[in-house]
Amino acid sequence: MQPLSDLATKTLAAHDRLNELYGVQAVYGRADPMHELVGTILSHRTTHANEVTAYRTMRERFPTWEAVRDAPLPDLTDAIKTANYPEVKAPYIQNLLTKLISETGAANIDFLDGLSTEDAMKWLTDLPGIGLKTATLVLLFNFKKPVLPVDTHVYRVTQRLGVIGPKVSAEKAHAILLAYLPQDAGVLFNFHKHFYWHGQRTCTWYYPKCSECVLQDQCDFYHADGKMVLSSTPTRPKPK
Ligand code: SF4
Repeated sequence: MQPLSDLATKTLAAHDRLNELYGVQAVYGRADPMHELVGTILSHRTTHANEVTAYRTMRERFPTWEAVRDAPLPDLTDAIKTANYPEVKAPYIQNLLTKLISETGAANIDFLDGLSTEDAMKWLTDLPGIGLKTATLVLLFNFKKPVLPVDTHVYRVTQRLGVIGPKVSAEKAHAILLAYLPQDAGVLFNFHKHFYWHGQRTCTWYYPKCSECVLQDQCDFYHADGKMVLSSTPTRPKPK
């Protein structure tokens, strides 16, 4: 690994390159933070289309959050069945709503806006079923807190670039990248979005399209000709 300051410089250079490619945007999220919170639970290990269908069906059958909380578990599980693992997600959602409503009196998390980033993060991650990724997505997208969601795409691209190390946990990757970047919600939002898109479109899991990648000259994986052992890389890229 290179010295930390070099890795920070490299991270920022890649960020600038993707800003040029994808364009800088203002922070945006779903209008309703509760939709973001529950939608993110539904989104785990499924497609966006399946998540949207599951959320819509759930809200059609159970129009209030209290109705979702009180629904017979098999009925809620059936309503969200288009999202993978509905038998796991349905109890998560009900436990989350039970705790939220009993502690705050309402299914509403708007009060997080007035908490410090650390307090808001702790409050969210103390809820059942809410991990670091979900908490950072809600806090960045809905409340413009300076945190960085590190999903599978952000993780893979930054690991192949060589800025987070070959075998770090998602939690460690989050801390490393956050230390390299300005504590600014706009910067972190664009970093997340751009690396997410780049992982979806170019630096794909099985066959990264290195020949058309704007990060090629900065990328350790490319310069190693795919011979690096990384936790996020199952195969070598296709021959160029
Ligand atoms: Fe991914 Fe290849 Fe681009 Fe490196 S050069 S970031 S491995 S697509």
